[in-house]
Amino acid sequence: MIVGVQPLAGFDKLLHYKVPETLRADIRKGSLVRVPIVNRSHLGLVMEVDAIPDCPPEKLKALSAIVHDYPALTPDLLGLARWMHAYYAARMESVLEAMIPAAVRDGARLKSEKYLSLVRAVTADELAVLAKKAPQQAKLCEFLKQQFRPVKKSLVLARLGLTAAVTNALVKRGLVVEETRHVERVAYADNWTGGEVVNGLPPKLNDEQTAVVAAVGESLTKKKFAVHLLHGVTGSGKTEVYLRAVEQVLAAGGSAIYLVPEVALTPQTVARLRGRFESAGHKTVVWHSHLGEGERLDGWTALASGQARVVVGARSAVFAPVRDLRLIVVDEEHEPAYKQDETPRYHGRDVAVYRAKLAGAVCLLGSATPSLESFANVRSGKYQVNLLTKRVDDKKLPAIHVVDMRIEIMRQRGLVTLSRLLVDHMHRRFERKEQIILFINRRGYSSSMQCRKCGHVEQCPHCSVSMTYHRSDETLKCHLCGHARGAPAVCPACAAPDIRWRGMGTQRVEEAVRRVLPRARMERMDTDTMSKKHRFREILGDFRAGKIDILIGTQMIGKGLDFPNVTLVGLVDADMSMHVPDFRANERTFQLLVQVAGRAGRGDRAGEVVVQTFTPQSDAIQFARHADFDGFAAGELAMRKQFNYPPYRHLIHHIIRGVNPEKIKFFAEHWVKLVELTLGTVVEIRGPTPAPIEKVKDEYRYQIWYFCAQATKVVPELVKLQAGFAWPADVSQVLDVDPMSLV
Ligand code: ADP
Ligand code: ZN
Repeated sequence: MIVGVQPLAGFDKLLHYKVPETLRADIRKGSLVRVPIVNRSHLGLVMEVDAIPDCPPEKLKALSAIVHDYPALTPDLLGLARWMHAYYAARMESVLEAMIPAAVRDGARLKSEKYLSLVRAVTADELAVLAKKAPQQAKLCEFLKQQFRPVKKSLVLARLGLTAAVTNALVKRGLVVEETRHVERVAYADNWTGGEVVNGLPPKLNDEQTAVVAAVGESLTKKKFAVHLLHGVTGSGKTEVYLRAVEQVLAAGGSAIYLVPEVALTPQTVARLRGRFESAGHKTVVWHSHLGEGERLDGWTALASGQARVVVGARSAVFAPVRDLRLIVVDEEHEPAYKQDETPRYHGRDVAVYRAKLAGAVCLLGSATPSLESFANVRSGKYQVNLLTKRVDDKKLPAIHVVDMRIEIMRQRGLVTLSRLLVDHMHRRFERKEQIILFINRRGYSSSMQCRKCGHVEQCPHCSVSMTYHRSDETLKCHLCGHARGAPAVCPACAAPDIRWRGMGTQRVEEAVRRVLPRARMERMDTDTMSKKHRFREILGDFRAGKIDILIGTQMIGKGLDFPNVTLVGLVDADMSMHVPDFRANERTFQLLVQVAGRAGRGDRAGEVVVQTFTPQSDAIQFARHADFDGFAAGELAMRKQFNYPPYRHLIHHIIRGVNPEKIKFFAEHWVKLVELTLGTVVEIRGPTPAPIEKVKDEYRYQIWYFCAQATKVVPELVKLQAGFAWPADVSQVLDVDPMSLV
């Protein structure tokens, strides 16, 4: 028997090995194994069983061990690995490393302990007899008699002051059994959900929910691949629909994967899941980034063995080795956080859809603001759409007030952080002891120019994205096509001087709030605070407990949080997301507005939203204001169609980095000529252009964009071309397929 193995040893190549007699019964496709490569032992993954080697079989070495009792990759995961390798232009080894947790790869052994229990009931008479012959043995029996379940040997011996000889004697007598058990280290009870396990009875579904659960249920019953897009307004009870779908799968003996954009940001969802399923006797594995090695291995083993059949986690949970996968839920499917920004640069949602396809399972995507990619798939009939149009209990969506900051500046005679309207509302809500969230859309990036008199932002005439301001040579450049012009000294639209407006930071907002509400208790939450995750949980806990009146933070706190006492949400600077040089800027702004508004008025009192902007007339704001997704999507898709942007074509981003900008430019231009010659008919190329942030850590960055109808065909061709192109050693480059951000 010969197997083909992809080693995890720093190179992509299938190597062949003989399988020793003793391992033959246990070897599977997807098994993690140990193999010798030049006198050293390495890990590898069995890709083929009964393979045909390219050399005489007697010359082959034998593999030395199988690492786990269960294959690391199920058949659908193996298929998925091959697809990711080709589609994302990622090395097979890097794909396997992303799919198999490090703890599993390291082959860390489950920590095991010996447990003791009585073989049968021991009578009092028996004990009395034993006590005379061997008092220590009697002592142990007496103790075990009082226990309901096996107890840890080490603990008992320590507590009773006995030695192992005593247990050995009892085992010999046939009174006590000793068994080895894995120690559970699943971090269920830790405090990252704030200790919260929501354990209420499931609510009675309303009519809309009932219809959606039935539709998804029908697909689940068919046991065939299908994708549902659950488009439900914020607070419409989408989570309840997911839970019912998972329940159906569990009842039928199948497994489900439940993906959330970031576990630490969705503690309530996780708590609800665990509450629901664990009270029904289903262990729920939580897959998050701060698990210890042992915990991760335990969770993985529970899933691979079929002991646990539900897993909830961020994007990498899509690779959980569950048995009989029937359902993958992707909550907040529009979230860019599903895209991994290092190799392999995969999109968790797209991988979920593909895995469901391979497994013949149902993929349930949900959002209040579906991505235009998914929306287009509904239009073309690939996905079924299911709607929840009303909030649960007919609670109203909050009213959205839009403040024109151009007028506000004139009124207040100077640059202002908080408009009068927002301040008025803050006073009112604060006096009523209701809570307030202020969002600031701070991104690491803010190099577009906006006139603060008229709100104008210069767009590239060819690409419909904002131009980027380059201070070094005083130019505005389009980083998609390279179109450039001198940076204007006055606003091209209204001739106002000084158009270098760059938005405001969290700190400024905090100071402004202190001035208007000095008595309010407030906390700031941004990436700096986020680096300490426990601090983040603490703040959320305090906010929930009413110890904080005003929470100031970036959009990261906008996801899925449910605070019933929040009645006012302010979006301090809506323009910051609208004018980033990205064709998805409008979509992001619309999503942000709707999601942020969704945080207000979830309790019994109606909520309100105040949006401050210099461009109140823009589509993103106007459609969000009326919660009109269809209107927004129609207009936005028309623009995408006009420029042939995703979802009408795929986009591939090619990043080229190096210390010598001349050299990168030379090679990039040379490379583009080659691509044009060979793939010019199927690919439209833009660039090379300098990246919007040209220099990062002493490295210069150039970029090329490829637009194409089918990435599946083009990516392998690009990879082939690259293999034959002599990139210099000090230039590094990478392909990013379907990038979610252009900056
Ligand atoms: P979404 O995910 O769409 O924002 P959720 O699923 O979080 O909405 O639901 C919002 C709130 O309504 C939650 O507190 C949830 O428990 C509750 N809920 C959901 N469905 C029902 C229902 N049918 N009846 C009563 N309450 C419900
Ligand atoms: Zn352009």
